[in-house]
Amino acid sequence: MRSLNEINHNTKIIGVIGHPIKHSLSPMMHNYAFNKLDLDFVYLPFDIAAANLKDALKGMVALGVKGFNVTIPHKERIVDFLDELSDSAKIVNAVNTVVNENGKLHGFNTDVDGILKTLEDYKDEINGNMVTVIGAGGAARSVIYTLINNFNVEKINIVNRTIEKAESLKDYFTSKMLFEKIKTYELAPPDVINVFADSKLIVNASSIGMSPEEDDSPTSIVESFNSNQIVFDLVYNPRKTKFLALAESQGATILNGLKMFVEQGAKAFELWTNEKMPTEKISEILNKEPEL
Ligand code: NAP
Repeated sequence: MRSLNEINHNTKIIGVIGHPIKHSLSPMMHNYAFNKLDLDFVYLPFDIAAANLKDALKGMVALGVKGFNVTIPHKERIVDFLDELSDSAKIVNAVNTVVNENGKLHGFNTDVDGILKTLEDYKDEINGNMVTVIGAGGAARSVIYTLINNFNVEKINIVNRTIEKAESLKDYFTSKMLFEKIKTYELAPPDVINVFADSKLIVNASSIGMSPEEDDSPTSIVESFNSNQIVFDLVYNPRKTKFLALAESQGATILNGLKMFVEQGAKAFELWTNEKMPTEKISEILNKEPEL
């Protein structure tokens, strides 16, 4: 987007669909990037209730919207309404980016690109070691897919409040990706403390600790952490969760979800525009952005 008074019939519309949508940082990130690269695109938030998803997609095609992001609660259900899916979207069974190619909607999962970009600098340390993923929702599926597809981990522990969901994820990845080294645990401290303590990488892919529940943490026990670990929290609001602060206090390397957020956006940006997003500048701005 150049400036508001330059929007005309040539301007390509990109959006994000979700419910609620008011806290999304995506409009700011993408409109900044369109402006910086002088691209004739505009990015708009659309608050779409679950019952209106199918109609909203028809509307996107009818209006010639070039593409859009997909967020909670539509990432999984949208899979059934798209014309084509990327390999990762198929396996993760969730879509966060759609490209409209002449009326055909193509679904992608760029969260996996964001996770890979966040962890790839630590590949040598992660390979050959045991890792633990907390959570068993869509984000956990993206993390587990990335770990199996791009790393060579010794074993994956899935720790979740609802053990049945962890077990069904284990069965899913064992059959879909033929990865048999998965163990499941109920998130019940202090029982899982040894599981955390023995892991080289711990990923919080649950929503525990996300604003406004900033005082919550998957574990409050310092013995969960040590200075040889990498601890990654997908939550980026707040930038430093209680979980990350505790891990840092024990000398662990900590990573928040901001890089994943920017890199999933950068991949989507490239799919829509064939251009590279200015990720460094955007990360700098978002790091300073007051937390929502
Ligand atoms: P989801 O499908 O709703 O899954 C939520 C997970 O969190 C479930 O495993 C749930 O356990 C667990 N959980 C929620 N509240 C809990 C609590 N009070 N105590 C214990 N466990 C709890 O959500 P999602 O889409 O996977 O997203 C998970 C997190 O990842 C969110 O915070 C989201 O913002 C973040 N995320 C970040 C990025 C990024 O770019 N950085 C991208 C995607 C997602 P049960 O199974 O027991 O319900």
